[in-house]
Amino acid sequence: MAAIAAINAFLSPVTHSITSKHTMPPPKILAGACLCGATTYTVADEFEYALNCHCAQCRRQTGAAYKPLAGIKRKTLTLTTGEILPYGEGPDAHDAHCATCFSYLYSIVRAGTYAHIAMGTMIDTPTIRPAAQIFVGSKAQWHTITDALPQYLELPPG
Ligand SMILES: [Zn+2]
Ligand SMILES: [Zn+2]
Repeated sequence: MAAIAAINAFLSPVTHSITSKHTMPPPKILAGACLCGATTYTVADEFEYALNCHCAQCRRQTGAAYKPLAGIKRKTLTLTTGEILPYGEGPDAHDAHCATCFSYLYSIVRAGTYAHIAMGTMIDTPTIRPAAQIFVGSKAQWHTITDALPQYLELPPG
């Protein structure tokens, strides 16, 4: 299946056209910050997915009913000021907190290749919007979901 997808991508006039890549405007750069303002980051407005995660870990990490997160390739994320205090499993799997005020800013996931930005820490508004409620099977009993987004007990299929 992966091979077929690769062939289709190659055959697609949009994805394999080198000239169209060069004429595309550079992505908008978005800024984000922690509570105290010491730690700031920038990230390209090129998020691939955004989800509201209701799992118990995200609730405890944020203190909120759920965590809106937006996924993007790690290489587009830049720490601009301050210092990160990592919490977790090492350089390729951790949550990043401001070393001064301990605000949670983002997680490094998927073997270090992606960042999940805590959308609440963004100063600028990204183009993407959360598309689904995930881990609804373990959501807070005191929280009622009132929007029409699709809900998944855990992760969406696929
Ligand atoms: Zn801070
Ligand atoms: Zn979660």
